[in-house]
Amino acid sequence: MDCIFCKIAQGLVPSQKLYEDSSIVAFNDINPAAPVHILVVPREHIPSAAAIREGHYALMGHIWTKIPVLAKKHGLEQFRVVTNAGQHAGQTVEHLHFHILGGHKLNAALG
Ligand code: AMP
Ligand code: ZN
Repeated sequence: MDCIFCKIAQGLVPSQKLYEDSSIVAFNDINPAAPVHILVVPREHIPSAAAIREGHYALMGHIWTKIPVLAKKHGLEQFRVVTNAGQHAGQTVEHLHFHILGGHKLNAALG
């Protein structure tokens, strides 16, 4: 499958990897929107948050317990987590990913 985040997870495309284990990978966003901008992605190709199913329950729990650990490790006491599902929401890469953003005061706009 021609998916950039699958390729990053497989090490076929270079990235600044910050964390990886058997089910998830975290790396720096190539076009950071904040001083710290980390992407957390499952290795499994899930197209977006709209495609999360009951079978992903443990994976989602794993991602959400790693998010504060990663944030803290990269100096963030305060941060935002965003996932865009669909073009109208701003999704440009069709592989589920969670943005961790922080390091300065973030814009309040959410929609
Ligand atoms: P979204 O617009 O929510 O789908 O987010 C996609 C994010 O992936 C954007 O913030 C891009 O800057 C980022 N991105 C795209 N390609 C790469 C890449 N090769 N390495 C790291 N981040 C990327
Ligand atoms: Zn993928």
